[in-house]
Amino acid sequence: MCGAGPAGCVVAERAAQVLGWKVLVVDRRPHLAGNCYDSKHRSGVLIHNYGPHYFRTNDASLIRYLSRFTDWIPGNYIVKSLVGGQFYPFPINLHTLEQFFDLSLNAESAEQLLRTKRIACPAPRNSEDFVLSKVGRELYEAFYLNYTRKQWALHPRELDPGVCGRIPVRLNRDDRYVEHRFQIMPKRGFTALFSRMLRHRKVRVLLDCDFREIQSLVTPRRATLYTGAIDAYFDHRFGRLPYRSLDFQFERHDVEFKQPCVQINFPNDFAFTRSVEIKHVTGQKHPATVLSYETPRAGGEPFYPVPNAANQALYERYRALAEETTRRDRVYFCGRLAQYRYFNTDEVILEALQCFAKIKKECAVLRQSALSRR
Ligand SMILES: Cc1cc2nc3c(=O)[nH]c(=O)nc-3n(C[C@H](O)[C@H](O)[C@H](O)COP(=O)(O)OP(=O)(O)OC[C@H]3O[C@@H](n4cnc5c(N)ncnc54)[C@H](O)[C@@H]3O)c2cc1C
Repeated sequence: MCGAGPAGCVVAERAAQVLGWKVLVVDRRPHLAGNCYDSKHRSGVLIHNYGPHYFRTNDASLIRYLSRFTDWIPGNYIVKSLVGGQFYPFPINLHTLEQFFDLSLNAESAEQLLRTKRIACPAPRNSEDFVLSKVGRELYEAFYLNYTRKQWALHPRELDPGVCGRIPVRLNRDDRYVEHRFQIMPKRGFTALFSRMLRHRKVRVLLDCDFREIQSLVTPRRATLYTGAIDAYFDHRFGRLPYRSLDFQFERHDVEFKQPCVQINFPNDFAFTRSVEIKHVTGQKHPATVLSYETPRAGGEPFYPVPNAANQALYERYRALAEETTRRDRVYFCGRLAQYRYFNTDEVILEALQCFAKIKKECAVLRQSALSRR
């Protein structure tokens, strides 16, 4: 397996547990859990090293599966945006609209208000069209425009409608960041969860090692799972798929909590996009706290695929090669880098479970035909 992130850990665990296969998991980083990795800061405060991870899902069977490896605590994902010196609930809801327009509103009057603000666009072609047609120019400029520019170094006009379209606008007073049925955090953190998943006598883990270094030394008997960047697997032969990266600055404070909620967005001020005090959701009791400031940048560790038509077209060329490679060599491509797609953790785990089902089925067919040839 290339990659000890969520996708690699899930397929490794299933292959060892269900099929009894020997599994070698290789990751070039010095730790497990991929971008979900969390660790103790030198202050002793538990931090999320690669940005805040708020676990959420609507899928009860996924929770049942993951509960084999962790207990849970409730999530408390509250996000505010600092606009014009005031904190506003985000995503936009009735509280945000009341505060922003200095009005008293209910769902009906808020809908009427938004109708007067919206800029009609029957088929939005990009994120700007999409947001303007949903909330109008004032809210677009206050909450979305500059945040999106900082995050992507692109104008919302240059991004697919879905980039800003993923953020809901609610005509109720629900201040939670997301609406999923389950909003819970692994009690001892994500690293503990994924370490538990790989604690199996048939699984070996090799960290600090690039897949390339061992690829020619190991001959997998059954299948290979590749969760690294798809363009890297094929030596970037059609060109590089672009990614947005992030810089994280961690800052210790000797108070129990420093900010009012886990995440503050800064759409219009500073170079960083958000400050995160993950202690609000990890449940840790500690006299100190740590804030992380997240600044988007171009080079560095690949974090977010850049979703637009040109990049999707380039990815499709790699995908065709990947399908051929799967058929020929039984190398399976799964996860956010291998599928060049932003997945939340629950989504990538479901992808990995589906990928495992495919591997299992195809290997059974191969085995059957080998037996019948004897
Ligand atoms: C800033 C940020 C915030 C996020 N917030 C949330 C959130 O709030 N909630 C949520 O549900 N999800 C969140 N996510 C998404 C979550 O991180 C991903 O869904 C998940 O990590 C994807 O798992 P993966 O296994 O596909 O990839 P990864 O976690 O990236 O793991 C892939 C692993 O493969 C390794 N690898 C790559 N190439 C090689 C190679 N050649 N050799 C060896 N190893 C290699 C990498 O080192 C990495 O460890 C967030 C992501 C980011 C970037």
